[in-house]
Amino acid sequence: MTERLEGEAGLSRAAELLRAGELVAIPTETVYGLAADARNGTAVAGIFEAKGRPRFNPLICHLPSLEAASDIGVFDGAALALAQAFWPGPLTLVVPRRASSGLSPLVTAGLQTVALRVPALPLAQRLLTAFGGPLAAPSANPSGKISPSTAEHVATGLAGRIAAVLDGGPAGVGVESTIVDCTGPAPRLLRPGGLPVEALEQALGAPLNRATPTNDTAPSAPGQLSSHYAPAKPVLLNAAAPPPGALFLAFGPGHETATANLSPSGDLREAAANLFTLLHRLDAMPGTAIAVAPIPNHGLGLAINDRLTRAAAPRG
Ligand code: AMP
Ligand code: MG
Repeated sequence: MTERLEGEAGLSRAAELLRAGELVAIPTETVYGLAADARNGTAVAGIFEAKGRPRFNPLICHLPSLEAASDIGVFDGAALALAQAFWPGPLTLVVPRRASSGLSPLVTAGLQTVALRVPALPLAQRLLTAFGGPLAAPSANPSGKISPSTAEHVATGLAGRIAAVLDGGPAGVGVESTIVDCTGPAPRLLRPGGLPVEALEQALGAPLNRATPTNDTAPSAPGQLSSHYAPAKPVLLNAAAPPPGALFLAFGPGHETATANLSPSGDLREAAANLFTLLHRLDAMPGTAIAVAPIPNHGLGLAINDRLTRAAAPRG
């Protein structure tokens, strides 16, 4: 059963559920977000499971203030200027992630950068303050469906798959946040959204670079994989056992001698929560390659296999 929450009691209940690692759809001024504790890998894996998302793309983290955001990411230059000009508001900034961020690597899909936003809706601000940490939240709709701008829309798409919906009335902006990448030499527009590009350009005093379309399964130039982490070692898929010299990333019971195991009990949610942490760990160990056991291709296994297939794809 998905709880419908509202008012003061609803706000405390939402914060309590989120602290317990549950999924709660929350109102923001852009669209309703499907929120989970960004420091809890299993909770974050639940977002992908509930949405039926076939890919682990990085998620936006929501904070109550620039001060709180500065504990997670590094703000200087254009990032600081844009945050000061437009937060709280419908602007997401991609900045370098602090090593001490405490985020689950699933939130950033294993990247060293992080997408951060301070929402303007007072109810969202108060929930973030009551919760007391970063909330990872993509739009609260099943994958491939349109973004929800009311609690009713959320319930239609996700009832029974999430713990609760906090009703904050209709979302005023109705489209997603504008995303600007501030990790390169000059800020770059990654996604147009609720904050007009003209407003950004006026604040920057310069035209904003636009993201160039990329084909992320077959990158043709270095840097095109910037929004995707891939291990440096070759990755071998569907391995029953590792070839000589290779490391073995197992899944399920009966693999006591494996280098690591995504989930000894064969739980896909646990495997998703561990995926990036273990890929990074094995990538840093001596060994010629990372051989990965077969992962069942259903539920979260689809997103795990998507990530592993990209990691195993030939690279230039
Ligand atoms: P959604 O989760 O649907 O709101 O989409 C979030 C968007 O932010 C996606 O387009 C992501 O690719 C983008 N994004 C999130 N984090 C990063 C990051 N660290 N680097 C680049 N893009 C990001
Ligand atoms: Mg979405």
